[in-house]
Amino acid sequence: MKLSEFYKRAISVGMENDPRGKDGAINQLQRKKKDYENLKPNEKEIFDMESLENPYSDSRILHGTVDEDIKTILVGIDIEVGEVLLAETLRNKKLHVDLIVAHHPEGAAYANLYSVMYMQADILNRFGVPINIAEDLMEGRMKEVERKLMPVNHTRAVDAAKLLNIPFVCLHTPADNMVASHLQSQFDDKKPYTVDDIIELLREIPEYKEAEKNNAGPKILLGTKNRRAGRIFVDMTGGTEGSKNIFQSLSLSGINTIIAMHLSEEHRKEAEKNHVNVVIAGHIASDNLGLNLLLDRVAADERLEILECSGFRRIARV
Ligand SMILES: [Zn+2]
Repeated sequence: MKLSEFYKRAISVGMENDPRGKDGAINQLQRKKKDYENLKPNEKEIFDMESLENPYSDSRILHGTVDEDIKTILVGIDIEVGEVLLAETLRNKKLHVDLIVAHHPEGAAYANLYSVMYMQADILNRFGVPINIAEDLMEGRMKEVERKLMPVNHTRAVDAAKLLNIPFVCLHTPADNMVASHLQSQFDDKKPYTVDDIIELLREIPEYKEAEKNNAGPKILLGTKNRRAGRIFVDMTGGTEGSKNIFQSLSLSGINTIIAMHLSEEHRKEAEKNHVNVVIAGHIASDNLGLNLLLDRVAADERLEILECSGFRRIARV
């Protein structure tokens, strides 16, 4: 499989499983095209043309010509310089790594992580939060994340991959879309009665079972196991945590339980004030589930060899 094919498939599967609906993702691309057409010639020169076809600013080919043949992939949750050197060491041991895949964004995709967060406004709106509230809170939070990312030295791993000439891709939101939509449909279907029933359902999923063995299994962060689960919102995609001020609107919109990968202390306090139950499914376990579901779709009919590193465990479902 060519690198271009692998990458295009990943973005397209991510769009199919976008919790806004595929239409929401397509709508974003159409609006971006309009923005591009209205730019001055010098602005067009520096425009990210990829954003006209890929709605996820945190997922990009970071190094590679796109024509490379891909047979062996090194996949990790976080790829830093150490993992790039690991790929090179494996190459020297005759295990030729054709591509490195990171889940968390690196390079320019990391610097731009905040812009993917806008999709969360549409997701919240689908769960009943008025769009004006969702957009207003999200815009403020995006600016905050942008400011936090500004001083980061985000090109280190990409620089190493360039020097060693190893193709490098990061796939963040497409994988997070997979886990969010998969779990949401499971819970919509099975309608767990109590918060503890949610934990039990999560434990049936191999990635969470595996995490439990490493003491990182699903946990109740707010609420108790006998509380009613009620209406569940799986909050697992759209870059990073949204605004901490959203919990009141979510609660008033009828959301009783949130299932998240992780939650900051500030967010936890706000959720508590608004009486929302919160189940933490686990960060790395959820990232694993998303990547596995994505790889099932992207690499299903190809004989790709997948090597695991940096917290990733391949569990295939097909
Ligand atoms: Zn993550």
